[in-house]
Amino acid sequence: MEASLTARDRVGIQDFVLLDAYTSESAFLDNLRKRFHENLIYTYIGTLLVSVNPYKDLDIYSKKQMDTYMGVNFFELPPHIYALADNVFRTMLSEFNNHFILISGESGAGKTEASKKILQFYAVSCPSTRLLNNIRDRLLLSNPVLEAFGNAKTLKNDNSSRFGKYMDIEFDHRGGAVGGHILSYLLEKSRVVHQNHGERNFHIFYQLVEGGEEELLRWLGLERNCKNYRYLVLQRDVLHLGNLKFEADARGYATVKNNQEMQWVSKLLGIPGQVLQQGLTHRKIEAKTEEVFSPFSVEHAVYARDALAKAIYGRTFNWLVNKINESLANQDSSRKTVIGLLDIYGFEVFSVNSFEQFCINYCNEKLQQLFIQLTLKSEQEEYELEGIEWEPVPYFNNKIICDLVEEKFRGIISLLDEECLRPGEATDLTFLEKMEEKIGGHPHFVTHKLGDKNTRKTLERGDFRLLHYAGEVTYCVISISTAFLTNNCISSALHKVMQHSKNGIIKHCFPSSEPDTKKRPETVVTQFKNSLVGLTEILMSKEPWYVRCIKPNEAKQPARFDDVLVRHQVKYLGLMEHLRVRRAGFAYRRKYEIFLQRYKALCPDTWPNWKGTPAEGVRCLIKHLGYKTDEYKFGRTKIFIRHPRTLFATEDAFQV
Ligand code: ATP
Ligand code: MG
Repeated sequence: MEASLTARDRVGIQDFVLLDAYTSESAFLDNLRKRFHENLIYTYIGTLLVSVNPYKDLDIYSKKQMDTYMGVNFFELPPHIYALADNVFRTMLSEFNNHFILISGESGAGKTEASKKILQFYAVSCPSTRLLNNIRDRLLLSNPVLEAFGNAKTLKNDNSSRFGKYMDIEFDHRGGAVGGHILSYLLEKSRVVHQNHGERNFHIFYQLVEGGEEELLRWLGLERNCKNYRYLVLQRDVLHLGNLKFEADARGYATVKNNQEMQWVSKLLGIPGQVLQQGLTHRKIEAKTEEVFSPFSVEHAVYARDALAKAIYGRTFNWLVNKINESLANQDSSRKTVIGLLDIYGFEVFSVNSFEQFCINYCNEKLQQLFIQLTLKSEQEEYELEGIEWEPVPYFNNKIICDLVEEKFRGIISLLDEECLRPGEATDLTFLEKMEEKIGGHPHFVTHKLGDKNTRKTLERGDFRLLHYAGEVTYCVISISTAFLTNNCISSALHKVMQHSKNGIIKHCFPSSEPDTKKRPETVVTQFKNSLVGLTEILMSKEPWYVRCIKPNEAKQPARFDDVLVRHQVKYLGLMEHLRVRRAGFAYRRKYEIFLQRYKALCPDTWPNWKGTPAEGVRCLIKHLGYKTDEYKFGRTKIFIRHPRTLFATEDAFQV
């Protein structure tokens, strides 16, 4: 008994539900820290897995470890991502239903690594045949390709995913991987033309220039030196396109300065130089009877060049995802079940927060909303199903913030869309004023004008602040409205130019069926909002599992556990709330069969074999163990235990 207590003191508790002082954030942190320093990076809250990034290689992902976790009861081994993966897999097989694993956490917390570990586990654990191996290899190989094109070094993470990713893995009834499908969300295209100090462009550019074969480089007209490319080294300022320079002619209009680069761009894009040059330096005005071309200033031409680079990259990325999907498509139409993996950007707060942060944080609000609905819903449903009374837990419902952003007619997105309808008239300030007028009274929205004395000091006139569920974020109106009003789109004239391409991929990326110049295209944020609605629908139809990743320090270093940083993440990942919900009614529930199987050795009447029903066996067992009547309830198929302490004592007795 003593020995096991000592061990617990040292390595902490492997399930927070068993924590005595479960409402105390400090106790939560203590437990996490203790385990982290023992290299125990995983801890459960019931079936939710908390993972702390060790920032060093741990010897816990070997084939041997995978074998150990295959087919073993979830709580019988130390917490592990493999245990979760295995549990999801086996639940899917036995119940023949669809599941998803939501992996969340801030940049650098270990989401992508976690999703790779899960995929690797499935690759090893699922049955294999030649055909299945083929799909399995493609699933695994899709990762490095997407990472090359979609990841980049940022200040927070050397391999930061700059897009959200949802991946379905499809299984047949025997558990063989038969197909897959990937959805990508909001690639950070602006990175192609601009990176903050200390950050880099997408990996693929450096891989190409530094690692590409000589012949390929010659064909592309590239030199083996990143420094030669403005998009790769300059802090402000495809690679030839980025090197295109413009100068003003005698009338102040833009002309291309370096014709050699222009020739390369034209050759590689498969578009005649004259046509491309015209597109980059002129706007087309459609008059009644004729087409008139109005020349750009140098500044405008630079803008058009960058917009084109972003469009080409973004569309090529989508093309790539489609290609991968074609190769992962399930050929067999027989019924299948699915495990979805969602590796999506976490809540972001920078010193200056712009359009990207607005979208990312909105996405996080939506996922938190989903988490609340699914966790509480499933909890309530379970009690109802099992015929157990329960008292709901108070929690902060962030629906009010989701509505503030997305509500029809008066949500921030609607107001911005409205402003987009008034090109020329709308400015950042008219947008700000419109928000102040329409949503000024909202408790989660603050501006300089609306703030009190204290708020005013910390807010510029051109900012607005949202009180997100995870904390306050101040957004820069200019950067948001600019992104909206300019819409990150290339002009329809430039789009038409791209259709002239002889390059198959480029032609495919700029189809002639769009854009309809008469109809206003959807704004980027409205597209994003719609894609999130789609994602929510996909997820709502599946059974949820959660991995919450935590970043222990900002220095990307092992063995450093920064209390303030971790506390903040524990708060906004909603871990304390989740723990309270898990503890509110009955902390633990187990199917009678499983409970009996695990503890039957503690009672002479149930050991070695109980002859009656499992429920009767459990009744006999807990009577022998001396459970008090208010400590447990009998449901239809499960025993519910109110205090984890009760189970704790049973576990201790079991281990002695
Ligand atoms: P982003 O949101 O920026 O994409 P992320 O949450 O996906 O961040 P990862 O790329 O998964 O973060 O992890 C960042 C780095 O942390 C990894 O490149 C790796 O060095 C380290 N790391 C993460 N998880 C583990 C782990 N389980 N074991 C060892 N190192 C890890
Ligand atoms: Mg990532």
